[in-house]
Amino acid sequence: MDKLIDTNRAKELRQLIERSSKIVLTCHVRPDGDAIGSTLALWHLLHTLGKEATVVVPDKAPSNLAFLPGFKEIGVFTCHPKFCETTFAEADLVICCDFNTPSRQDMLAPVMLEAKATKVLIDHHQEPDDFTSLVFSYPDMSSTCELVFRVIAAMGLYGEVNLDCATCLLTGIITDTRNFSVNCKHTDLYDILMRLLEKGVDKERIVKEALSTRSLSSLRLEAYAISEKMEIFPKHKAALITLSKEELERFSYERGDTEGLVNRPLEVRGLVYSIFMREDADCIKVSARSCEGFPVSEICKNLYGGGGHLQAAGGEFYGSLEECRKLLIDNMENYDKYLRKGKY
Ligand code: 5GP
Ligand code: MN
Repeated sequence: MDKLIDTNRAKELRQLIERSSKIVLTCHVRPDGDAIGSTLALWHLLHTLGKEATVVVPDKAPSNLAFLPGFKEIGVFTCHPKFCETTFAEADLVICCDFNTPSRQDMLAPVMLEAKATKVLIDHHQEPDDFTSLVFSYPDMSSTCELVFRVIAAMGLYGEVNLDCATCLLTGIITDTRNFSVNCKHTDLYDILMRLLEKGVDKERIVKEALSTRSLSSLRLEAYAISEKMEIFPKHKAALITLSKEELERFSYERGDTEGLVNRPLEVRGLVYSIFMREDADCIKVSARSCEGFPVSEICKNLYGGGGHLQAAGGEFYGSLEECRKLLIDNMENYDKYLRKGKY
């Protein structure tokens, strides 16, 4: 099970943990189930080991993750900047989860980089930047939570995984694979699922809380977005949804309300990629998903300074929603070469 993980590196991490007295666990901005799941899972593990640990995140996590044990103890930089700065400054070990470049931490990035602590990266995104002294980077894995499980096992600490830790791990696996419907080809993942179920994890509750519970207004927003705002580009096998600030306000938008929306157009046979653009307070947030190996990560990297995975990526655009939309439409034909000819 843990064969994939470099044993020496796992040993090194275990020694670092044993030697450290104050440990910070941190993740990317707009944290999702995998970011919160992986940091909180390690937080529970470290508590079991008798360590002082704190999860510090750049900004608030969506309320669909509030059921996770330890959620209330998370330090949110945008809410408590002084506390978060002190926590980083006093740490002797910082473990960065689920991001591959400091800029994914937004305003928290300089705080993390300036910390004197030894830094470790545990992540499943492509091409990580060199900003930590120890790296666990496995882009083939379904989720950072899958990777954290394997790293824990490779450190010989599987026995210390309690129900709370297991619940957090399975939440990240379930959200990143959309309940085992994408990125879940490797049979090992089901072995891990079994091990977590053996720890007593309530999988049905995780699916219900993390993926299948929402507000009425968010359901209405999704229906509106699909019926009124979805553009289809048949030649490019693409769908585009844009939502302006005004439209979001009309549906009482809250963080997390559009989670999953970008996947919906891919339910239509023949569509290969889907892009969603949301006008946030500071930028246009771009989200992209694809199938058939179409590299939406390229679109996000080239047009929106972002990245992610081949079939699930994102980026940010600084300008108007209309400019952001036009940039995509003007460039769509450059990506036609990745469409599989005659497949449909
Ligand atoms: P989402 O669409 O759920 O926000 O993100 C999908 C994937 O793209 C995630 O793996 C996420 O880490 C990555 N991603 C999202 N936004 C950005 C971004 O602004 N920059 C980079 N480099 N990756 C992003
Ligand atoms: Mn992830």
